[in-house]
Amino acid sequence: MADQPGALCGVLGYPVGHSRSPAIQAAAFRSAGLDWRYVKLPVRPELFEETVRALPASGYRGANVTIPHKLAALGVADRASPAAAAIGAANTLSFVDGRIEADNTDASGLLDALDRPVTGLRALVLGAGGAGRAAAWALREAGAARVTVWNRTGERAEALARELEVAAAPRLEPADLLVNATSVGLDPAVGEQDALAALGLDGTDPPGLVVDLVYTQDGSETPVAAWASRGGAEVIDGLEVLVRQGALSFSLWTGLRAPLDAMRSAARSERPETAP
Ligand code: NAP
Repeated sequence: MADQPGALCGVLGYPVGHSRSPAIQAAAFRSAGLDWRYVKLPVRPELFEETVRALPASGYRGANVTIPHKLAALGVADRASPAAAAIGAANTLSFVDGRIEADNTDASGLLDALDRPVTGLRALVLGAGGAGRAAAWALREAGAARVTVWNRTGERAEALARELEVAAAPRLEPADLLVNATSVGLDPAVGEQDALAALGLDGTDPPGLVVDLVYTQDGSETPVAAWASRGGAEVIDGLEVLVRQGALSFSLWTGLRAPLDAMRSAARSERPETAP
């Protein structure tokens, strides 16, 4: 798969200027000695399907997919992985022998970032959007003893829980692992106290292990990560999860093991542009 000089991959989104994936994947291609390129593909929703269908003939091997196209990406695919089908969204497309294959590496990227068995753990997932769905499904599939979803809008947590056969809770409950899959912490204008209060975490102690899927544009610590480290928790941040899901995409497209260290250092050192 990897012996295709000049092959292309990209990230489909709108906007996509903030994405760190080009820096991460370019570093991976360089490190693996591949003459491949990875580009930003800012595509409006109404042009998504025709753009995707045109990519294979233009030399593309695959694409990552971000907001707002993750549902449409599943819809356009000829084949979906069990993760993408169960989660109902895809973040990775591969173009193989004229077919479009959809996968969701947000789920397995979280498990890879955890890098330990979750069997027997009680997991509490905050958020019932796309990232919350992927996290809840991944943790349930990996054998967590209990997966509970809390969400600001409780009905969304209940709907997700019914669909994925996990639990929903109206307020936070004790856990061994907490995953912040809300977008709280993304907006630097919201102070730490307000961010923690929005999630009901203010005045509480963290469990031993906390994953914050959110990462900031300037690389500063997020409110949930700061709260967790202060309380003595082991913290896995959003950039590590991003690198792990990117590593899975890289392997799907190239058939090679991903050069994780090169990808990590690109994720933490290169700042994305802010233009669309
Ligand atoms: P989404 O579908 O828009 O869902 C947003 C979630 O955040 C919803 O559960 C929403 O609750 C909640 N939320 C928003 N504002 C809130 C507030 N003020 N108080 C409490 N809850 C609030 O977004 P997503 O795709 O799931 O992404 C969520 C976050 O995960 C984003 O920051 C994204 O960048 C990050 N993410 C990171 C990775 C990674 O690789 N590190 C991968 C995927 C996503 P309601 O339902 O009540 O609105």
